Amino acid sequence: MITIDCAGDDMMAKELEAYLKRYNYDVKVDESLVMIEEMNVEKILKSFLGETEHSEYTIRKLDSESFLLSKEVAIEEFGFVRCEMCGYVVSTEEEMLVHRRAHGIQLL
Ligand SMILES: [Zn+2]
Repeated sequence: MITIDCAGDDMMAKELEAYLKRYNYDVKVDESLVMIEEMNVEKILKSFLGETEHSEYTIRKLDSESFLLSKEVAIEEFGFVRCEMCGYVVSTEEEMLVHRRAHGIQLL
């Protein structure tokens, strides 16, 4: 049994379930987890993403029995702040103000 974790994305899990059922795979879904009795999951997932044009998703093998299927999101969506000059990442605006001063910018 292989578990494909859709990282909390129930819609993606449903879409994957529908896709797998169309190809007659034995599949079970529990919220965003998709469970399948199949060894060649990585290949199936690649075909799924290709055919459904979900190129923004990536497949990560977590261990021999589980995969993570998740969208690559910009770090800004997690509340991080990225310095527009050097790409340095901090978690708060305050830290960014301190960091920007290091570039010699005078802030009022
Ligand atoms: Zn910087």
